[in-house]
Amino acid sequence: MKRSETKPLGLYVHIPFCASKCAYCDFYSFASRDEDLQKHYVSALQLQMEDWASVCRGYAVDSVFIGGGTPTVLPPKLLHRVIDAVWRNFSLTDDVEITLEANPATVDLRGLRKLHRAGVTRLSMGLQSAHDRELSALGRTHTWAEFEQSFSDARDAGFDNINIDLMYGIPHQTEASFLKSLNVASLLGPEHLSVYGLKIEEGTPFHVSQDTLPLPDEDTEYSMYMQCVEYLASRGFEQYEISNFARPGFRCRHNLKYWSGGEYLGLGAAAHSDFDGERFAALRDVAVYIDGMELVGQGDTIWSERRAIPEDERMSEFVMLAMRLRDGVSRAEFTARFDADLDSYCGERLKAYIPDGFVTFDGDRYAFTTKGMYVSNYILSSALPFDYAEAEI
Ligand code: SF4
Repeated sequence: MKRSETKPLGLYVHIPFCASKCAYCDFYSFASRDEDLQKHYVSALQLQMEDWASVCRGYAVDSVFIGGGTPTVLPPKLLHRVIDAVWRNFSLTDDVEITLEANPATVDLRGLRKLHRAGVTRLSMGLQSAHDRELSALGRTHTWAEFEQSFSDARDAGFDNINIDLMYGIPHQTEASFLKSLNVASLLGPEHLSVYGLKIEEGTPFHVSQDTLPLPDEDTEYSMYMQCVEYLASRGFEQYEISNFARPGFRCRHNLKYWSGGEYLGLGAAAHSDFDGERFAALRDVAVYIDGMELVGQGDTIWSERRAIPEDERMSEFVMLAMRLRDGVSRAEFTARFDADLDSYCGERLKAYIPDGFVTFDGDRYAFTTKGMYVSNYILSSALPFDYAEAEI
């Protein structure tokens, strides 16, 4: 197969280890510095990559996202084994975007230089808040000062594409303290910002103590979101997705794949894939994952879900994901993809939200306004025929 005939693919590599567990986090990750376990896990990842290498021969990987968890809690040697295995087993495009999630206080200048040399092109750094009191309420182990140092080290190491994660709606936060976090984070000069509202997820310490958490009320949260969008626009960031803002030319290619229905392959425990018409996800269990990869004939035991996606579900997903984007969903693209009419599928119901300023329609595209984005889940669940609440994307 010639290069021009290859299909684009995103790779996600999950590293489930963290320095400690944050009080709000329901990602599959746990506090561990157990080097033996980490070694086995990385070996299992290498084996899984070798397994997939031949299946992916017709694909050109143009985005890689190494996330977690906190990949940078791995000893550098192990982290580099993961990166090397990606390069060795897959065909990467010349302009491949390779993102690595890194938390402050888990990286230093020397380590960052090596990661840059190993081909990592983009860093995603978790800040969440620039106030130490709020950080400690979240269970984060770093301070603002440590973040500043890590960011500066990343620049010195040569990274010219850095994302900062921030949160609103967190304990002790006020409108003023959130705007201060936004302000100081944007003054560092990142190329990209992801700003998510806190969600209280079942199974987390925050869920247990939610009634006593000093959280901002709903009106304050709404105001934080609206001001965030306005402020970041004034600082030259384009909002291209509900929670994501980028300087021109710095949108995250990998995440855009999720929102635009592209193919991606997830590697590691708990990793999700949408590959060759099938959706599959690995169990949230490191031991099962390691055994599945290391023991002959156990490979299929790692899956929690593996199924072909019916066309009606694909249609709803396509709309739901495209509507996360500022550009929204296109009637022409929907028809080209599904041979169906978007207006009769859900467009007429979306139009009901135009008079109150939640949705726009330009003759081809339906898109949310900023205030529509804030309540997008509610609008989509009423506009889509598929049970949106049940969708796990
Ligand atoms: S560092 Fe990230 S993945 Fe780890 S516990 Fe905190 S929020 Fe979750």
